Amino acid sequence: MDKEYLKMIAGNPNFIPGIYNYCDRWCERCPLTSRCMNFAIANEQSPDQDSRDINNETFWHKLSETFQVTLDLLKETAEREGIDLDAISKNLSIFNKL
Ligand code: SF4
Repeated sequence: MDKEYLKMIAGNPNFIPGIYNYCDRWCERCPLTSRCMNFAIANEQSPDQDSRDINNETFWHKLSETFQVTLDLLKETAEREGIDLDAISKNLSIFNKL
């Protein structure tokens, strides 16, 4: 998965925006799986049991990949919006020393 894939799938008009923020994550019982971006990504990124098992290295590789894509998108959005993440990070470091 990379940020271009995520942007592409997020542009699917069949998905209900943010529906996964208002559910109990009981996907097996959900009638809206075909309209949920989270479900689609999870099925594509973790299609087998091994990739969903926290005791399996594959799970941690997938999680690491997800964090990296999230960071890439955050940096891209910040740059587009003129937000200096380094300046924010330095300010947070000051607070951490208090
Ligand atoms: S498919 Fe799963 S994550 Fe998506 S809305 Fe349904 S329960 Fe929530």
